[in-house]
Amino acid sequence: MKILVLNCGSSSLKFGVFEIGDNATEIFKASYEKFEAGSCSYKVTKDGMTETGEAPLGDIAAVLAALPNILEGHGVTQLEAVGHRIVHGGETFRTTTVLDESTVVAIEALTPLAPLHNPANLLAVRVAKEVWPNLPQVAVFDTAFHSTNPPRATTYAVPKAWRDAGLRRFGFHGTSHKYVAIRAAEEIGLPLRDLKIVSMHLGNGASVCAVNHGESMDTSMGMTPLEGLVMGTRSGDVDPGLFGFLSRQHGLSILEVEEALYSESGLKGLTGSSDMRDVEERASGGDADAQLAIELFAYRARKYIGAYAAAMGGLDAVVFTGGIGENSPSMRRRICDGLEFMGLRLDHDRNQLVKLANHAAPQIQAYGSRVRVIVTETAEQLMIARETAAALTTKASAPEPIPVAVSARHAHLSRIAVEALFGAGYQLTPAVTLRQPGQWAASERVILAGPKGRLEGVAILGPERPRTQIEISRTDGFALGIDAPVRDSGKLDGTPTVRLIGPAGSLDTDGLIVAARHIHINPDEARRMGLADGMLVDVNIGDEERGLVFGKTLIRVGAHSVTEMHIDTDEANAADIRVKGEGSLVPDLRAVVRATKEVVCP
Ligand code: ADP
Repeated sequence: MKILVLNCGSSSLKFGVFEIGDNATEIFKASYEKFEAGSCSYKVTKDGMTETGEAPLGDIAAVLAALPNILEGHGVTQLEAVGHRIVHGGETFRTTTVLDESTVVAIEALTPLAPLHNPANLLAVRVAKEVWPNLPQVAVFDTAFHSTNPPRATTYAVPKAWRDAGLRRFGFHGTSHKYVAIRAAEEIGLPLRDLKIVSMHLGNGASVCAVNHGESMDTSMGMTPLEGLVMGTRSGDVDPGLFGFLSRQHGLSILEVEEALYSESGLKGLTGSSDMRDVEERASGGDADAQLAIELFAYRARKYIGAYAAAMGGLDAVVFTGGIGENSPSMRRRICDGLEFMGLRLDHDRNQLVKLANHAAPQIQAYGSRVRVIVTETAEQLMIARETAAALTTKASAPEPIPVAVSARHAHLSRIAVEALFGAGYQLTPAVTLRQPGQWAASERVILAGPKGRLEGVAILGPERPRTQIEISRTDGFALGIDAPVRDSGKLDGTPTVRLIGPAGSLDTDGLIVAARHIHINPDEARRMGLADGMLVDVNIGDEERGLVFGKTLIRVGAHSVTEMHIDTDEANAADIRVKGEGSLVPDLRAVVRATKEVVCP
């Protein structure tokens, strides 16, 4: 599929054409900027040849209108879709979206959240619709990757009325963070969902993202792209108390302060230059302001790595990208220095010798470093092309029912745990056979104890496992007073400890999780339904009144699995699942899910 990707900003237009098949290839790339006096400068790359020059096009709208000619002039024809970078998707757009009249209106309504960016992005949508009325247009949102951030990461502790009015953290650079996390996982050779990654996008705009098991868990930009790291001209984190101080003591208006925080702060505010190359040059020549700016930039970035490692309960890799992340070995080194205590050690030679052609993602950690450090070029346009193709190729086929089972809280015990709780040599007693082959509920029960309270009569599921795993709901977590992470079964590293109490003794063990919802399915059925192991699907479930779409439901293909979706009691209650209900996999309507309340663990 041949896809044109448009990244239309307020002062420049970048675009690329990608052929998306088994691999994605960029066949054309261009940028038009510096618009003044009826002309602009451009740079076009095709077949490895780059051409630069001046074009008689006075603004972005003129370039957009001339696009068909520009592309045809370079032999690029037969486009099949247009993918657009849209900066702000607000709460409305959590995934890549095929655009129609109503979605364009909904994006327009988000303009107050991104007054500079969204109108520029929408200009490209409008012109592209006129120029190519028959091509599908797809929006890929910078904010969408962060839609998985939990409320504790997205909520500002401010009055309810403000929060009700939409004040919350969103995060940006999502397409870049997603791309580099995927690229890092490829380089490491492990599935993204097994990794805890901190992605550092350090360009003129800069942000950090905690990519926890493949999902954004937190990110340094907030409601606007002003929060977080020190940037070219933006301050990043400041004390909001400065508004009052500057207003009272210096008579500045809110708009004046805001403007200065966006455009006169960051590296520019500290040194007079927003360009890291200048700042590094001056610092090496002895300029004290530039030296402080570099220290501050690195210090704040390093603090975020520590914070996000703490938030995720561990760290497997740090990925650097963006103009500074890709090109400044000294900044990478400053950021990483001092993180040896958490198992991160840089190899200084590898750091110095980074080469990034052809989407390379070199690893630059020292031998024996537990945490990997990877550098790679971001490829937001490539990612937009891939997402556009994926949104358009999801096929519809016949709906098909899948039963849903509700898992009450339960424990899978190891041999050590069984003996600690029930006595040496004790064997659990299978009492109820479960639907998944070989699995049963035992007649024994166990008590869970946490700092806040106890849960009595918790079911035990057999057979024994090599490692103890206790699955509770979010509500149970509050009853115990322990914040259990949402995890796939078996992914237990860094999970919190809970006390198990049995008739013969007690045991403090980690392994406490809220099980990520999932669908068990065998390989034949999965193939028939177009599903694959590790895929995440959205499932529409529950009765008509309180039906819900459960996003990010993991497909788990097992050789002998019986097809069945597992959700926990909170999820079942939220969807008001009674004896029977109905729903469908969305967005492609591949299957109908019939919800049959079967309590897996009595
Ligand atoms: P944008 O956010 O505008 O896409 P970029 O990702 O292009 O920004 O990053 C621009 C930043 O990268 C600038 O601060 C620039 O100085 C910095 N940069 C580019 N090359 C180097 C280099 N070799 N050393 C240090 N900084 C660099």
